[in-house]
This record gives sequence, structure tokens and C-alpha cells, in this order.
Amino acid sequence: MNFQHTLQTYAELTVKVGLNLQPGQRLLIMRAPLEAAPLVREIAVSAYKAGARLVDVMWGDEELVLARFQHAPCDSFEEYPVWRAKGMEEAARRGDALLSITGVSPDLLKDQDSDSVSVYQRTRWEHMGPTLEHIKRNATNWTVIAAPVPGWAAKVFPDLPPEAGQARLGEAMFEVCRRRQADPAAAWEAHTKGLAARCDYLSHKGYAALKFTGPGTDLTLGLPEGHVWTGGSDITTTGITFTPNLPTEEVFTLPHRDRGEGVVSASRPLNYMGSLIEDFALTFDEGRVVKAVAAKGEPILRKLLDTDDGAGRLGEVALVPHSSPIAQAGTLFYESLFDENAASHVALGSAYKFNLAGGTAMGDDEFAAAGGNHSLVHVDFMLGSGEMDVDGIGEDGTAEPVMRVGEWAFDV
Ligand code: ZN
Ligand code: ZN
Repeated sequence: MNFQHTLQTYAELTVKVGLNLQPGQRLLIMRAPLEAAPLVREIAVSAYKAGARLVDVMWGDEELVLARFQHAPCDSFEEYPVWRAKGMEEAARRGDALLSITGVSPDLLKDQDSDSVSVYQRTRWEHMGPTLEHIKRNATNWTVIAAPVPGWAAKVFPDLPPEAGQARLGEAMFEVCRRRQADPAAAWEAHTKGLAARCDYLSHKGYAALKFTGPGTDLTLGLPEGHVWTGGSDITTTGITFTPNLPTEEVFTLPHRDRGEGVVSASRPLNYMGSLIEDFALTFDEGRVVKAVAAKGEPILRKLLDTDDGAGRLGEVALVPHSSPIAQAGTLFYESLFDENAASHVALGSAYKFNLAGGTAMGDDEFAAAGGNHSLVHVDFMLGSGEMDVDGIGEDGTAEPVMRVGEWAFDV
């Protein structure tokens, strides 16, 4: 299969399975690296063929970000092009399909001042907030995919020359998106059905808590009453079925914001918007991080945790078997969209309201009182591995195996 054909397949998968773009809808690509232009153009073609009335793109360029850090005044990182955030929110409000294409060089900001980096990131979260609120309620169909940009490829395949590295990363990405199947869209449908069956089983069980046991991890997370497991495809409040992440291998729900106890060690590095945090462990008491250590990137980790009260609490717990194609590919992607689908994980920060029965109709205070966490940030990090056991704890304290040595311990 040649590269152009691969791009077309990926673009079609994005429009049909990811977004399920509806005839007459507009599409806003709210983030696209310049280097992803060939993919973006294929996506536009697929979108117009599917009946899009307008495809618009907000381009991003890492070189420009770097230039800003190197040459802009150091007190200027609260500046933000507000029209961008307004445009995104307007699109979300209008019900346009929203696509975000990630592809970030993990080491982009590694030599920059951590205070400036943290102000820059916080400012972005703040301005994106209103758009993310629409997204968190599934008010419209949205998807996150990735594009193999050169800086990222160089980190994943450091021994290959730049072009070969980029091609190799593209191959690895598309591979785990099941594009080698004769009919990738049909393969996705079968896969998301399997995830839905896992979700039904776990939602029906209604465990009071999950207990994770593995190397460096002994963590118990309380689950709020009425928590709902979701995964694979999702449905908007307007009734459109879509797949929020491509690839996706996870089923997830929300932990109770006040009921996390114990220690968790990350099983993969975290690429937090161009800063790498490695070999880190967090200790929780009554849901809040009370201790954080990292071999690399500890200042950035601390600043992330201090963003606001909710940033030091959890908003998502997700289960991914170690046999997922992404874990089996054996590639460390340094990108959460891929790495989070290789391992069970949790997210610091806000919870999704659709993970609680009746949650999308709740105001923030009511959601918080029910156990849902609220924060500007939502950052996934990985704790799962082929050595992780997970138990479901019932109301009466009895434990049932959910995962053993990284694999599902129940059939559906
Ligand atoms: Zn997740
Ligand atoms: Zn997440």
C-alpha cells in the first residue's frame, strides 16, 4: 500500500468512523500541524464527499512556538489570540464537527523556562475552557487523531534518518488503526462493539471501588454511585454516533474525586504539551495528590498539579488490556493518544459528565457533590502493564478479578 493510499484510508476513517460527519455539517479542524497538510487535504476531500458544507483549518507550527519561547518577552506568556478560542467555541455551539490533529515533539520545550511553559499551558487551557465544556458534554461530534510530524518521529525512532523515521511512525500509527484489515471501517465497528460489551458488564456491576496492584502501584479508587463506563464509540446529545479517539482501545469511567488512596507509579513517560515527565509516582490521600516525585520533569509535574484544586485529583480511570495492538507493537509513542491506548491509565483533572448517570444535565456544583472532579486540565498518564492486577470491590467489600497480569479476567 503506498503512502498516498494510506493517507486516504486514514482520512476516510477519520471522517466516517471518527467524526461520522453528517451531510450539511461544517467541519472545523481546530488543531493541525503544518507538516500534516497532505493528511489535512485528504480529510477535506473525504469531508466534502460526505456532504460537508465547509471545511476550515486552524494551523499550528511548532517552530513558531519555539521562536516565541526563545525571543518573546518573558512576561508575555499570558498573551493569547482570543479570536481563535472564540472561533472554536462558536463552531462547537453551532454543532460543527470538530477535529483535533495532535503531533507534538516531546522535547520541544525541554530547554525553556518552566515558569513560562506553565503560564503558556495554563493560558491555553483557560481560553480553551468554554470549547472543552461543549466537548465534555458531547454537544457535537468530535475526534482526536494524530499525524506523524518530524520532531515527534525523531523521538520515537531516533536511529532512523528523518524521512525514514517519519514514514516508519506513519506506518506504526496506521497499523494500530487497523488499516491493514480488508475493510478497516468494518473492523472498527466490530472492535467498538466489543468495547461496548465490556462497558455494559462493568456498568452493570456498579463496583464501589477499583483496586490496582502492580510494580510500584497499590491504588484504590472509589467510584461514585451511578458511574457509567464508556468506550469505543459515543453519542452526541443530538444523536450522532461518533468515535472520539482514533485509535481507541480503552473503556473508562470517573473515579470519585475524594476517594483515591495509595500510590501509583507511571508505567510510561508522559508528554505534557512538549515537556516530558518520566519515572514518576504520585501518592493519594482522600483523592488528592499529597506527594509527587519524578526522575525527569518534576518541576513541570508539580506545576501541572498546582494548576487548580482539581488538577491534583483524578477525573478518569481507564482499562486497557496489555494485548491491545498498541501495547503489542512495542513502540513507545511519547504521545498520550497512542500510549494511553497501550495501557490502563488515569487522568489528572476534570471528569467527563457523561460518565455519570444524569451528569450532562448537572451544573458543576451538583456534579462535584456527586463525586465528579472539575479542573481546567485533563491529562492522562499510564499505570498499566503486563504485570497489573485490577480488582472490582463491591459495596460489601468483596473483591472480584477485573484484570489479571494485564488481561481481562471476565468474558462478555
Ligand atoms: Zn483515557
Ligand atoms: Zn483522558
